[in-house]
Amino acid sequence: MNAAKSTPPASGGKLQIIVPVYNEQAVIPAFMQRLHGVLDHEPINWSVLFVNDGSTDDTLQQLQRLNQQDKRVGYINLSRNFGKEHAMTAGLDLCDADAVVIMDVDLQDPPELIPEMLSQWRNGFDVVYATRRERHGESALKKATAHGFYRLMNRLGEIPIPRDTGDFRLLSRRAVAALRQLRERNRFMKGLYAWIGYPQTSVLFDRQPRAAGHSKWNFGKLWRFAMDGITAFSTVPLRFATWIGLGVALFAFVYGLIIIIKTLLHGSDVPGYPSLMTVILFLGGIQLMALGVIGEYLGRMFSETKQRPLYLVESIQPADNDR
Ligand code: UDP
Ligand code: MG
Repeated sequence: MNAAKSTPPASGGKLQIIVPVYNEQAVIPAFMQRLHGVLDHEPINWSVLFVNDGSTDDTLQQLQRLNQQDKRVGYINLSRNFGKEHAMTAGLDLCDADAVVIMDVDLQDPPELIPEMLSQWRNGFDVVYATRRERHGESALKKATAHGFYRLMNRLGEIPIPRDTGDFRLLSRRAVAALRQLRERNRFMKGLYAWIGYPQTSVLFDRQPRAAGHSKWNFGKLWRFAMDGITAFSTVPLRFATWIGLGVALFAFVYGLIIIIKTLLHGSDVPGYPSLMTVILFLGGIQLMALGVIGEYLGRMFSETKQRPLYLVESIQPADNDR
């Protein structure tokens, strides 16, 4: 695990902040203000690359205005809403900097952490991820499901994914180059960050409640997200069907033997309806479940084989700073 450390510039260098935004007009001004407050004192040339993920409110107009007023603001406008993972991918594909920080716009990821990330990057780490110490302002149910999900992922998957870690992180130039090579459509980014390897470290923070606007997550989305994560990084569920099948077959074999012996010794007793019904229903259920598991993987293979682009760009407006 002793990968060679990356070599960031000794001082200075260029930093780009990638921020996916979807209907976020309410928080963008506050976000830029906080960011300026933190980064204007840092000895680094920085800019922000917003990725407008098909917003239907005034987000794009705001970005256009900011782009004209603030030399540090650039943006990519996607052709429609592709989802956060694809929006981040667009940002990673089109950025050009020595270090990149990915963060949410709603100030749940505190910009104050960036200087600490930068210093770890200067220490030679390629990926510096922010790990939540506490989750403020989130329901007990969301906390519990998130916790359960990370545990399950780390049990099933082959690559350990750091717990309580979101997308908020710094990536070195070579980490970004590595991520660009992973073109799968089913993008479970947290898994992809872990997959690339390289020296990685974490910094701790407290996750704050959203500053304004609404979370775009609901349980339907979370479920799909969890399914994407598991199917992208583990084939254990597929093998699970095999084990259950084997177990049931073994049980059926033993049970069959018992019935045969019983019939030989005592003759046949016709009434067997309850046990017959139970077995049929049980096996039917297991078979449907196994089919469902196969379907989850097959559906994803289907979308991979179509080889569609991950996103489409409508327009790009670089920050004056990056021209
Ligand atoms: N986001 C996006 N596309 C989407 C949904 C969300 O780019 O389809 C962005 C959103 O604007 C925000 C970030 O992803 O900057 C996190 O979204 P949100 O706060 O809704 O998620 P949560 O923090 O509740 O997990
Ligand atoms: Mg949020």
